[in-house]
This record gives sequence, C-alpha cells and structure tokens, in this order.
Amino acid sequence: LPADIFPGRRNSAGIDLADPLVVEPLLERLHVLDARRWHAEPTLRSPEQGEVAPITQPQDLTHEVGTRRDALPEEIDVAITRAIAIQPGWDSLGGEKRALLLEAAADMFEAHTDEILSLCQREAGKTLMDAVLELREAVDFLRYYANEARRLFTAPLPLPGPTGEENRLSLHGRGVFATISPWNFPLAIFIGPAAAALAAGNTVVAKPAEQTPLIAALAVKLCHEAGIPEDVFQLLPGAGEVGQLITSDPRIAGVAFTGSTQTAQAINRSLAAREGPIATLIAETGGQNAMIVDSSALPEQVTRDVVNSAFQSAGQRCSALRVLYLQDDVADEMLEMIKGAFEALVIGDPEDLATDVGPVIDPDAKAALERHVARRKKHGRKVWRRKLPRGAAQGCFVAPTIIEMDSILDLRRENFGPILHVVRYKASELERVIEDINATGYGLTLGLHSRIEATRRFVEARARVGNFYVNRNQIGAVVESQPFGGEGLSGTGPKAGGPHYVARFATERVVCIDT
Ligand code: NAP
Repeated sequence: LPADIFPGRRNSAGIDLADPLVVEPLLERLHVLDARRWHAEPTLRSPEQGEVAPITQPQDLTHEVGTRRDALPEEIDVAITRAIAIQPGWDSLGGEKRALLLEAAADMFEAHTDEILSLCQREAGKTLMDAVLELREAVDFLRYYANEARRLFTAPLPLPGPTGEENRLSLHGRGVFATISPWNFPLAIFIGPAAAALAAGNTVVAKPAEQTPLIAALAVKLCHEAGIPEDVFQLLPGAGEVGQLITSDPRIAGVAFTGSTQTAQAINRSLAAREGPIATLIAETGGQNAMIVDSSALPEQVTRDVVNSAFQSAGQRCSALRVLYLQDDVADEMLEMIKGAFEALVIGDPEDLATDVGPVIDPDAKAALERHVARRKKHGRKVWRRKLPRGAAQGCFVAPTIIEMDSILDLRRENFGPILHVVRYKASELERVIEDINATGYGLTLGLHSRIEATRRFVEARARVGNFYVNRNQIGAVVESQPFGGEGLSGTGPKAGGPHYVARFATERVVCIDT
C-alpha cells in the first residue's frame, strides 16, 4: 500500500536539546526524579515472594535506582496460562481496536517523558541525547505498528477464483509470544517487538534484560494504564534462566529475541528440543560492522561520522562501527583528524549535558572490553586510549580506544563498547576487503564514504548486510525510513520498523466458499 495511506502518522518530534528554554526546566525536573526508587516484579504475582536484587547505576555502582524481583517458575506457568486464555479474545478484537490501544500507549509514554528519560539515564547510563532518541524510537514503534495492525488486520484480502467461488486470506495472532530483549535499548527494543506481537493479535510475556527491568516495568504499567489488559501483556523479569524457562515452555507460539548471536543460537536449540508446535523465532543479533573510506571521501564528514558511529552510546549499539577501513593514500591524514575529534570527546556522567561518552552497562562488560584491549597491546598493536576522568572508578567506564590492525578477520567476537579498530587497504584491494567483511558471517551495518558512484554500486552489489549507509553515519535507523535488521549471524529478519515486520508475528488463514 502507498506510504501515505495513513497520513495521520508522523514520527515523534522528540525534544529540542539545543533550546535552553526546554532543557533547563527539563534538567530541574530530572534532578527531582533522582531520588525516586523503582521496582520491577512479575505482572501477576504469586503470594510467595522471591528474592529481591538491587539495580545500581552503571555510572556509579554505589547508587541504587531500584530493585528487581525475578519471576518464579510457578509465576511463569501462570503467566503463560493466562496469556493463552485471553489470546482468542485479543485476536478477535481486530486491527482497529488494537491500533487504538497501542496509540494510547504511545501517548502515555510521551506523557511520562520525564520518568522515562530519568530511568534511561540512571538505570542504563544513557546520555540525555540518547535517552531522548530512545523514547522517540519507542513511541514511533508503537504508532507505526498500530498502523500496521489497521493495514493488515482490518479486512481479509480477497483472492481470485472461478465464478461461484469466494476466496479470502486473513491474518491472525499465533498465540502467546515471548519477547526477550537486551539492555542497550531498554525501552525501544523492549516495546518494539512486544508492540508488533500485540498488533498481530498475540498476547505477550516479556522478559527484559536483567540489567534494565525498571524501564521495562514502567513501560508495561503505562501500557496497562492505556487500556491493554494485564493478561494480554505481562512482564516476567529475571536473568537468563527466566528466559530459558519461558522459551522451553511448549505452549509458547513464537519468540522475538534481540541480543547476542550466542543467546539466539541457544534459544534456537531450546525451541528445537521442546515438545509442542513448531515455534517461530525472530532474532535480531550482533554485528561486526565496518566502514570503508576511500580517497574521494570528504575528511570532515568522515571524521564526524566515524566518531559518532563508533563512540556514541559508548559504542553500545548493535549498529556501531567496529572496523574502519581507510584507503592507504589518505589513511594518515584521516586518522589524524579522527584522533583530533576523539581527543575532544567528553567522557563522564551521562546526567551531565556536556557528556559525549558515558559508562558501559556493567562490570562484566567493562572487564571483557579491557581484556580485549590488553590482548591487542600484548600482540604489539598500536593502541590510542583516552584518559578517564577523576571519579570514573566508581562506575563502569571504559576509555574510548582506537586500535590498528590488519583485517576484520582478526576479530573473533563483537566488542560491544567504545573501541574502534582501524585497517589500511589499497584501492586495488577493495574486492578483498568486502570479501573479508562478508567472511565474518555477520551482516548488520556497513558504511561507505566515497564520492565515486561506481564504487558505491560495486560495494552495494557485493556486501551482504542488512543496512548499508553511504556518506553518513551508520547508527540511528529511523522507524519506517530505514527499517533495521541484519542477516547471517546478525539475525533472521524481518526488519524492525519496516513493512514486513508485523506480518511475521501472524499466521495466515484462507477461507474458500462455494457460493
Ligand atoms: P544477551 O546477553 O544475548 O541477552 C539478551 C537477552 O536474552 C537478555 O534478556 C538475557 O537475559 C536473555 N537470555 C540470556 N540467555 C538466555 C537463554 N539461554 N534463554 C533465553 N533468554 C536468555 O544480549 P545483551 O548483552 O543483553 O545485548 C547486547 C547484544 O544485543 C549485542 O550483541 C548487540 O549487538 C545485540 N543487539 C542487537 C540488535 C539488533 O537489532 N540486531 C539491537 C540491539 C542489541 P539476561 O541478560 O537478563 O540474563
């Protein structure tokens, strides 16, 4: 259908952080919320209470934001039972009514902007800019999938047939979907897959990452206040074991997972091993994302886009740039400029408006990144690192780092933090560079900076990636404009925020009537 069929839908405008009249009162309101303590627990609670774990701030581990109470096995069982019981009613509500509820949830999110921004900053260590972008994306997902519910689930599709025969195809929810989400987009990627599953007529049990259950709990509460029934959308907080229990339950009709490739493979095995109907797995996973810069590229633009792609959100975006390929004739000049901008990055407390690079999510993430840098140093690689500011030891800060190396194939795994690897290549080696990037098996994002049209066509034809960005940064996909998702080790598709996404959560039925 043409894109303007629902002219009412617009992506959210966000907040203008350049306007002091907006920002100053916002900062004051966020400051007041610093004292608020939050709690996450299963939507349907059993009388028996489990253990409560503290949630601390990544930027200051001595500060508690709230507490998490994990779902108990019997609560998981009850949650799935109740979600199954209510699913036919939710499905038969139809696309329009579900759309209105998802839109009401988007309005509730916007009405609670302050609480959401505060939690993104304090629970997930996000800068204010990243927090604002996160809220925008969450709201955009809700409204976009609401429109998809209208488009796909309002009327059946008439199909051709001989005279006297009526054929029609309709879409329905599959049953109960489990959504399992990561900490790096604790709101947008928590709500996006859940909203799509709900739009398609499924009920949802949602397990957020163990590090960020509080934002998820607020999101679920706001959806309930918007009118989505509790049994239809339930929170099941906990660590990986809770996810394992949910995905091994034979009553789950599908899993929408976003996280690491290794966890997706574990879930795939678990779904294959269980009894019951064959479940759908939608998995969005990691990347080993490269950018290629040739001698025709504009150095200032390259500098800006490399630094944003590699270091914004402390490199904790699945789309983030990990390996920069610089054509050797311009590599020294480009690297000098990139290092200049790298030296200017402000590292520190994400609640400080000037901060460019905040903390990584937790001590384990920090330790893994530090081990990677230490190994590269041991192997004699050239390494540049920023110094951390005073006070950083209290939080999970990793100094932004640039490492020179020979090939993307020297990297075994995704390094999920502010580390940029640089490789030099000769113009005659472009084909091999693309072969190496493809040979990683990942296929999420790829950047290219080149003014040569033939080079763009050459790379576009060969690269096996989900999202290819030319002469710009390679992060921050926009709902509907750049549907997002990878291939190979990076995911199964379909693309989030795109026109084929919601239908994958549905099952198709055909009715044939001899009139
Ligand atoms: P993760 O460790 O794979 O965890 C993701 C989720 O899976 C968490 O909720 C986790 O629970 C749960 N989990 C762990 N083991 C499980 C199991 N055996 N069964 C069921 N669930 C299980 O990933 P992460 O560290 O949170 O997130 C970072 C990763 O996500 C990176 O690899 C990044 O590239 C990827 N990512 C991809 C996209 C995309 O669109 N392609 C977007 C964002 C992030 P606990 O953490 O609570 O134990």
